[in-house]
Amino acid sequence: MHISGIDRIVQGTLSAVIADNLGSHQIGCFKIGFSKGFRKCRFCLAVDDDIQCYFRDNQFIARDKIQHDQHCDGLSLESIKEHLERLYGITGTSILNELSHFHVIGGLPPDVIHDILEGILPFVISKVIMYCIKSKFFTLKTLNHIIENFNYGHREVIDKPCTIDYSQLNKGKMNHSAVQIWLLAINLPLMIGNFIGESDPVWHCFTTLLQISRLIFLESISDFEIVKLGLLIEEFCVDNKVHFFQSYKRDDPKSKLKCSIIPKMHHLVHYPRFIKLLGPLHSFWCMRFEAKHSYFKQLQRKIKNFIDPPYTLFKRHQQWQCNQFRSAVEMLLQSPILTSPYKVRLLDAVDVMFPLQGKSLLY
Ligand SMILES: [Zn+2]
Repeated sequence: MHISGIDRIVQGTLSAVIADNLGSHQIGCFKIGFSKGFRKCRFCLAVDDDIQCYFRDNQFIARDKIQHDQHCDGLSLESIKEHLERLYGITGTSILNELSHFHVIGGLPPDVIHDILEGILPFVISKVIMYCIKSKFFTLKTLNHIIENFNYGHREVIDKPCTIDYSQLNKGKMNHSAVQIWLLAINLPLMIGNFIGESDPVWHCFTTLLQISRLIFLESISDFEIVKLGLLIEEFCVDNKVHFFQSYKRDDPKSKLKCSIIPKMHHLVHYPRFIKLLGPLHSFWCMRFEAKHSYFKQLQRKIKNFIDPPYTLFKRHQQWQCNQFRSAVEMLLQSPILTSPYKVRLLDAVDVMFPLQGKSLLY
């Protein structure tokens, strides 16, 4: 690279692979799907019972690179292959482990979008709302009216949460995008906080989760905040198991509802370790990839052409991208800030990069 007038050799290496849980398990050769394998977590060797009982990272045996490689080598023996696969939740040796300075143990960080915004938050919010409705703090109609008429900020209106359907709450799901869920979560205390007592244990569980989310989404985090995060995660997991369970048992003593720790909640337990290792997890989230992916999903729905979807999407995307670049350059050319010599150099660059589109810029 040419830096400050000197040619320098800059070397780089792969430090982390960013993907959702399914993608990380697939590329890391772990069992796909949380219901499969005796040990489901790609960060530790916890079994189901441990996940339900312990909520601190140091209470689990972290997966180790050397041991993991030994387990993967063992898969070559047909007699113990199935046993090892089930026992350690692995399917083989990842091709990424052939890299000199990368290993899937520690190299596949948790993704806060899928764990929190599309996992734990909608799950907990749906439970909190259900609890409030059953406790007669407010009705769903009242809540939907508040959501519809809430005074959102100017930049928030575009991601305004939609109204909630009772059937979604029953399933512990919410039909909101990740951004809508985040907007709903941070405004929920203002929307319904005055209906619920401050000391309410179920509400305390939700507010603890909000504090955890705030710390996780920080762009820089101190050692003190990492310790605080670990304590809050432990508090949240205990609250989730005990208080949600008690609230549902009180309303329905025969209820068989299990207020268990879901795998995404267990991932939270390892967050402080990964933040220490890699820095704020905000830098490793899939938000930008999800935004890019949503362009293709929406495009496919609109064009309704299923003859050769990869070709169609590729071509349409290239046309759209060229148009984006061209619009940006045209805006620059019209700008009074850009002086003539720079305009000439910009046009030369456009001619090289986009020969066909560049000609139309010479107006
Ligand atoms: Zn784990």
